[in-house]
Amino acid sequence: MNIPLLDLKAQYATIKDEIDAAVADVFASQYFINGPKVAELEKAVAAYSQCAHACGVSSGSDALLIALMVEGIGAGDEVITTPYTFFATAGAIARVGATPVFVDIDPVTYNIDPEKIPAAITDRTRAIIPVHLYGQMADMTPILDLVKSVNLQRETKNKKPIHLIEDAAQAIGAEYKGHRAGSLGDYGCFSFFPSKNLGGAGDGGMVTCQDKDKAEKLQIFRSHGSRPKYFHKWIGGNFRLDALQAAVLRVKLNHLDAWTAKRQHNAARYNRLFAASGLEIAFTADVDWASYDRPQVVLPSAVQDRHIYNQYVIRVQNRDGLRAFLKDNGIGNEVYYPVSLHMQECFSYLGYGEGDLPQSEQAAQETVALPVYPELNDAMAEQVIEKVKAFLVEQKI
Ligand SMILES: *Cc1c(COP(=O)(O)O)cnc(C)c1O
Repeated sequence: MNIPLLDLKAQYATIKDEIDAAVADVFASQYFINGPKVAELEKAVAAYSQCAHACGVSSGSDALLIALMVEGIGAGDEVITTPYTFFATAGAIARVGATPVFVDIDPVTYNIDPEKIPAAITDRTRAIIPVHLYGQMADMTPILDLVKSVNLQRETKNKKPIHLIEDAAQAIGAEYKGHRAGSLGDYGCFSFFPSKNLGGAGDGGMVTCQDKDKAEKLQIFRSHGSRPKYFHKWIGGNFRLDALQAAVLRVKLNHLDAWTAKRQHNAARYNRLFAASGLEIAFTADVDWASYDRPQVVLPSAVQDRHIYNQYVIRVQNRDGLRAFLKDNGIGNEVYYPVSLHMQECFSYLGYGEGDLPQSEQAAQETVALPVYPELNDAMAEQVIEKVKAFLVEQKI
């Protein structure tokens, strides 16, 4: 039995009639750009995410880009983020001409380590972008407190504030102390890339915010900065969400909680199967593979309230060996992400070197994602763990 990392055909089979009808609706209306379908989705995603406003955009990457553009962040500015994320997070910073400043991760959650942020703040810092990686929110309280105290000082000196932009691309519906992803920062940036928990039929994204003025500016910037039409106070871009995507996403949003529950069920089942496997397990932390009582496998640690498991990521010493073995046995897996962003060739101009962000670098060597999609059943989960075990037992000898 082949087990893919994600099975979107299985998902489509369960909602085909609803999706097909929603798509037919859009064709009948011939209303393809913005319009009522997009407005309806914006309202629903804002409510789902505990936000006052939401603005549909062309992708998660563009959601990050437009948030930075609206705040006029660019050349000479610095933006703090994590190096252990999808490229788009840092790419957006560089695309507006600002400088990405990387802060290492907490090895338990793989999210930015709030304790390391203060040392990275300078007079040029204009934003912080925490990423809620794998579906678990970053530790937001210390970050919110920090931003608040810096901004209070800046206010007295009449200096521009630091903005908090949540990269919630992998975390729609995730919670931190009862607060949903995207509701705590100045902006929440979501992606509807097909492999995300709420995935469209192509590219799409959303920016949420609580502030009415910011919401209005987002709408203006997504249509080339024009309002009224053909009058441009700012330079925006074409960052619009297609009505077809909005229609599909609106249908899928109704199923999101059920899918999330299944992902959580699958993660808990993996944890149980690992615990019963006889393997030495641990939950993600600093791993010293050379120590006598090292674990054979490190499981994901759900520290925050509502982990939505966009990915179920384990950590092993011989990651690439395990990957090859799983592949030979028909089990889908992927590495998110194999190269810490500070080591990417395109960012060599930033001057980082090996060893500068050790937790991120180590995670990039040792992590691998296993299938956790909602349609994964008991027999499949058992087979996945059986194969992981077979490899690790062999390794131990
Ligand atoms: C997917 C993703 C993005 C980019 O979203 P796209 O819709 O693919 O442009 C940004 N950040 C993170 C953390 C992501 O996982």
